[in-house]
Amino acid sequence: MNAQGYVRRQGIAVAKSSGLVLGCVQKLNQKHQFIQEYKISSDAIASEVERLSVGITKAVKQLRQEINDLADVDASGELKLILETHNMMLQDPELMQQTACLIQKECINAEWALKKSLSQITQVFEQIEDVYLRSRKADIEHIGERIFEQLAGIHQQQQYEQAIMVAQDFSPMDIVDMWRAGVSGFVSIQGGENSHAMIVARGIGLPGIAGLQEDFFNWIEDGQSLILNAEEGRWVLHPNKQDLKQFEQEKQALQFKQTRLQDYVNKPSVSQDGYNMPLMANIEFIEEIDVAQQQGVDGIGLFRTEFLFMQHEMLPSETMQQMYYQQVIQGMQGKPVTFRLLDVAIDKIKVTDAMNPIFEGENPALGLRGVRMLLQHKTLLKEQLRAIVAASGDAPVSILVPMVTMASEMVDVRQVLNEVCQDIGFTGKVCLGCMIEVPAAALVADTLAQVSDFFSIGSNDLVQYSLAVDRTDEHVSYLYDAGHPAVMQLLQMTVDAAQKHNIPVSVCGELAANPAWLHTFLTMGITSLSMSARHVLQMREQLHHLRAFS
Ligand code: PEP
Ligand code: MG
Repeated sequence: MNAQGYVRRQGIAVAKSSGLVLGCVQKLNQKHQFIQEYKISSDAIASEVERLSVGITKAVKQLRQEINDLADVDASGELKLILETHNMMLQDPELMQQTACLIQKECINAEWALKKSLSQITQVFEQIEDVYLRSRKADIEHIGERIFEQLAGIHQQQQYEQAIMVAQDFSPMDIVDMWRAGVSGFVSIQGGENSHAMIVARGIGLPGIAGLQEDFFNWIEDGQSLILNAEEGRWVLHPNKQDLKQFEQEKQALQFKQTRLQDYVNKPSVSQDGYNMPLMANIEFIEEIDVAQQQGVDGIGLFRTEFLFMQHEMLPSETMQQMYYQQVIQGMQGKPVTFRLLDVAIDKIKVTDAMNPIFEGENPALGLRGVRMLLQHKTLLKEQLRAIVAASGDAPVSILVPMVTMASEMVDVRQVLNEVCQDIGFTGKVCLGCMIEVPAAALVADTLAQVSDFFSIGSNDLVQYSLAVDRTDEHVSYLYDAGHPAVMQLLQMTVDAAQKHNIPVSVCGELAANPAWLHTFLTMGITSLSMSARHVLQMREQLHHLRAFS
């Protein structure tokens, strides 16, 4: 029991991101969206209305900038038109007045008021009979997102400094929203080590743990203090003096380690006996690019493009995609970038209205996802391929095809790629790689290697599908074992096929960042690894101390 009379509790979670944090609990309800809702005092009304007004002004300014920047890439003017409409809606005095009124009447914060007024407006749209006009509801959601984003940057640090958000579950987008809002850490009652929420948390460096006993949610109350050691998955609720001392020591040790690893930023990724193993980054969001460069990554081995699609309520247009991919390529300054084609999966995507028609089925993990979905929605595939190819110029860009189970899928995608290159007069080279993440793909790797320029082993899904263990389910995470002989055989078959046909083979699942596997990867014949950028230096240090073949 501590000085306030609280019972000290501690435990280990199933999953962890990285980092250490001491903060105050903030509970989120079961079905949350990370939009903070709180009451304000009547004294705070004027400043909250001002905050709203600044948020809207900033959103207008940002949008104006985007419209100006479009001139170079939006040849058809299609995107400009959409953004101009959003600009008009943003500046509609009705939106400001209605929201300010809610702040005043109900004494609630700007985000909460905005959420309420947006919902009132979208309800009106939902009642419209005309299908086209009804679909414009997405525009309202879009401008709402812009204002929320701006509001998050105003006074938010104060609000969330030291906050550790606790909820039953977080989506990958929640993780990013929390990070953008300055939250210090998170606890998710549900979730496994390889869920996309945890992958994203590792990527952006937000300390968090997942997979705890349900009771945890009942023990805690807002404002209580909590230590998270997201390096090891440990937590302590109501820490005592000894815990706090240990926390300080662990934090210092982590800082020492990070300083030591800085020596490896500009070193090549080679083993002690000279074996070259490029260490690349897995990226989900544009903000991660700077971190990746600071960590001296050798390139991007996996850019998960689906996260661009889930950031908005509307599908991104080809022009928007092209701008985004260009930004990624420019950010990497000549280092190789591999874009993976859209892979929609249930734990990644919040099924938005725009996505709904292409994302149906009882069991999406086994359903119309990855290359299957793209080949059935060729316009989407073509647009994405065209956007990547057009963005690539003469940069070293590759394209990775997700969820492949047979050679004809690779052949079909390559055909569309060739058509696209011809359409836009692209004569450079874009390599087309095959994800090996379904057991069937590993079993027919010999055939796939004949129609692919490279392989990338998606160990997260390969383990999930081989062992029938849901990667997001903490109840079966003890069975999630990449070292299982069945998985080992599939890995070896994949590498053998790649070697036979002389194509590179990387690993891009979370396994790639596991130091205990590095020697196995080297001896097995894996040619590069792709992982969360924050793990690259640690792996490079390890690589320098390893002898691959003697
Ligand atoms: C994988 O399955 O290992 C992989 C890299 O893809 P994702 O984690 O996005 O499913
Ligand atoms: Mg996968």
